[in-house]
Amino acid sequence: MQLFTECLIPALNNYGNPQLMAPSQYSLGLMGIIVSSPRMNNETTQVVKKLLASPQKVAIVGHKNPDGDAIGSCLGLSFFLKSQGHSATVIMPNDFPDFLKWLPGCDEIVIYEKEVENSKKIFEKADIIFTLDFNSLDRVGGELQSVLENAAAKFVMIDHHQQPADYAVATYSDVKMSSTSEMVYHFMDAMDQAEKLSKEIAVNLYTGIMTDTGSFRFSSTTPTTHRVAAKLIEAGAQSAIINQNVYDTNSPERMKLLGVALNNLVILPELHTAYITLTQKELDDHNFKKGDTEGFVNYALSVKGIVFAAIFIENKQESIVKISFRSKGNFSVNDFARNHYSGGGHINAAGGKSSQDLNNTINEFISILPRYKNALTNAL
Ligand code: 5GP
Ligand code: MN
Repeated sequence: MQLFTECLIPALNNYGNPQLMAPSQYSLGLMGIIVSSPRMNNETTQVVKKLLASPQKVAIVGHKNPDGDAIGSCLGLSFFLKSQGHSATVIMPNDFPDFLKWLPGCDEIVIYEKEVENSKKIFEKADIIFTLDFNSLDRVGGELQSVLENAAAKFVMIDHHQQPADYAVATYSDVKMSSTSEMVYHFMDAMDQAEKLSKEIAVNLYTGIMTDTGSFRFSSTTPTTHRVAAKLIEAGAQSAIINQNVYDTNSPERMKLLGVALNNLVILPELHTAYITLTQKELDDHNFKKGDTEGFVNYALSVKGIVFAAIFIENKQESIVKISFRSKGNFSVNDFARNHYSGGGHINAAGGKSSQDLNNTINEFISILPRYKNALTNAL
């Protein structure tokens, strides 16, 4: 039976407004403050509780090119499930950035690309596969997609991206959530285990929330996001240290590459659009490592009057141009990425790819934009 009801219950999404919640949505904060939590709905909760009623072999998987939210939510969930007597292994499709390689538990992550046979065995033996921070199995990329499609395990999805696919026996999807990491906290709460927050869980979930909200800046950040963050800090997540570990560990090469990216910034004022390009040579010249371009696109969006920003990054190895889109207001980059770049994501943050070369990709982008002039002009 598919349970697919999270996004259909408006009351559960009004997490900024406790009056609209049923009493069961409340839990007592550590300081005696009432903390409202938009928990999973009852039906999904019951299915998951049943699945986890006895010790299970669990595999937890995040999306390709995992970011702070993918890693933080998967590790946080794995610590939680282990504390409940289950065995849990986190498997990522490919490697993750160095600025996350201090997170508790990160040394035990299995990288599919590096350990194909071992990963396949883990998926084969798993009773349950949790898929976190993605909405469709093609987001794991390549061969791993068919490994998952053919797995006998039951799937549970926890995710906040638009248009979730329908493959799990329990789907906890809420597109209004700041991050999947925030959802893992609500998941624990729904299991009546929010008080089981260990320091390891707290540090991982805080990192996921912090990175996915641009340090609590984006409009997805709600009062509840802050309440959850407060709980995580109380449980041992040290905000200043986490910020330093994530944001103050840049390599000199990354800083120089940022200089190149900013120099390549193109602004189209009439279309309220700005974009950045990076060629493979520019990446190679700066000893590019995974994660080095993280956040660059936000500089394009920070220009006054700009509501739509993109970064086009050449990837010669995969013969694609990887694109990140960001927007402000009601201009949906999820729709834009879906319609033109086989991608998707959220309303204000999405990604996609082009199989044309960088020049043609840019020319095509510029030719598409005028169709959106009205939407771009009226986005705010
Ligand atoms: P980023 O630009 O930071 O890589 O990704 C922004 C958001 O879009 C993230 O939530 C990410 O999961 C999603 N995203 C990035 N690339 C793709 C893609 O190729 N396809 C889809 N469906 N989503 C993507
Ligand atoms: Mn996320």
